[in-house]
Amino acid sequence: MINEKKYRGYESYQYLEAGVDFKKFELVKETTLFPDYIVPVSQEEEARVQRLMAENIVISLHEHLFKAPVNLNEFLEFRRWGRDFTGYEGMARSRLDCVFDNLMNGTAMITSRGGWKWDDILYDLGMRLSDLAHQDMMILGLTTDDIRRAKANGQIAFVASIEGAGMIENELDRLDILYGFGVRCMGIAYSEGNGLGMGLKEPSGGLTAFGKQAVRRMNKLGMAIDVSHSNDQTSLDTIEVSDKPIFITHAGARALWDTNRLKPDDVIKACAAKGGVIAIEAAPHTTLTVKNPLHNIESFMEHFEYCANLVGIDHVSFGPDTLFGDHVGIHTALSEALSLSASKGTNAFEHVKFVEGLENPADCFPNIVRWLVKHGYSDQDIAKVIGGNTMRVLEQVWWDPKKQGHGPNHQ
Ligand SMILES: [Zn+2]
Repeated sequence: MINEKKYRGYESYQYLEAGVDFKKFELVKETTLFPDYIVPVSQEEEARVQRLMAENIVISLHEHLFKAPVNLNEFLEFRRWGRDFTGYEGMARSRLDCVFDNLMNGTAMITSRGGWKWDDILYDLGMRLSDLAHQDMMILGLTTDDIRRAKANGQIAFVASIEGAGMIENELDRLDILYGFGVRCMGIAYSEGNGLGMGLKEPSGGLTAFGKQAVRRMNKLGMAIDVSHSNDQTSLDTIEVSDKPIFITHAGARALWDTNRLKPDDVIKACAAKGGVIAIEAAPHTTLTVKNPLHNIESFMEHFEYCANLVGIDHVSFGPDTLFGDHVGIHTALSEALSLSASKGTNAFEHVKFVEGLENPADCFPNIVRWLVKHGYSDQDIAKVIGGNTMRVLEQVWWDPKKQGHGPNHQ
C-alpha cells in the first residue's frame, strides 16, 4: 500500500496497567460503527485518489482522534479521568499526514462541571502528550518542517489545538505557556463569551480590548487563530486585528443553512481577503442544506463548493471534526456542555444516526478525495484543498525557528 503509516500496534497508555493505574472502560473499535459508505468511483479513479493522497500533504484542520466509551452513560465519568485514548490503529489507515486535534475541548471537565478550566486544559494536554510520547507513529507537530517530515517518514503530525481561550482568564502569558506545551492553534471564544470576545451563543458584542492584545500576542508567538465558534462580530474583529491570516477550522456557509454555527458570507470573504482558509465541518447536523437536509457527504460538499465559489479554491479546506464512536450519542449526552441548542437554528431537518461518508477520522479523507475526483476537480485544486492551502497559511503564521531574525525586535 502506498504511503503506509509506520504503525507498530501501540495502544494508548499500554505502558500502564489498565484496572490498576486507571479505570478501564470498554471503548469503541476504530472502524465505522454504522454501515460503511465509500463514495463510488471507478478503478481508474480510485488509483488517482490513492496517487493524489500519496503525492500531496493531507491535513485535517479539525478532528478529535479519541475513542469514545461504548456505554455513553459512562462518558462523563470517563472524562473525569482525564485520559483520552487516541485511535492510533484507525489513524494508521487515515492517509492523513497532519491532524489538528482539539483534545477534550469543552468536555475537559476533570475538576469542574462547566469545562474550560486552566488546570483541566493542562491536565488534558499533558496526559495526551505523555501518551503520544510513548509511540512513534504520531509526532507532535510544532513547525511546518514537522509536517513535511511526518509525511516523508510515514508518520502523522499531531497539532495540539484548543477551541476556545477562556482558560487564559486575564493572563496573556498563559498563551506563551500553552505555546510552550505545544499548542499551535486556538479559538477566541467557544459558545459563551469570555475575556477575549463573544462566542456563537452571544447575539452581540465583539473582540474586547484584552482580546485584541491576545490576538497580537498569538501573532507574535506564531500561534494560529480560529474563529469557528466566535460570533460574527468577534470573527470580523479578529480578522481585522490579526496581522496574519486566520482559520475558520470547522464551519460552513450560513447562506445554505441558517444557523449561527455557520458563517455568513461577509465573514468568509473577510477571512479569505486576509489570506485565510475556511475548512468545512461535518459534525452531525451542522453542514445541512435546504437541498440536502439529510446530513451526509453531499450536503457537506455543497458547503465546500459554495465557499469555493464565493472566495476561490485557495481559501477552502476540510475540518470534518470527527471522532471514533457514536458522535450523535455523545452530542445527546453532552448537549448542555456543547451548547447545542444554541447552535441548531430553527430550520427543520431529519435526524441522522451518523454522517454517511464522513463518520470517523480514519475514513473521511479518502471519501472527500473520491468525491472531488468524481466531480472533475484538477490534481492541482485537490492538492490545494486537502492540505496545500493550510500549509500556505501555516508558513505565514507559525514561527519558523530557522528564521530567527523576524519579530518586532529584529527588524
Ligand atoms: Zn467545534
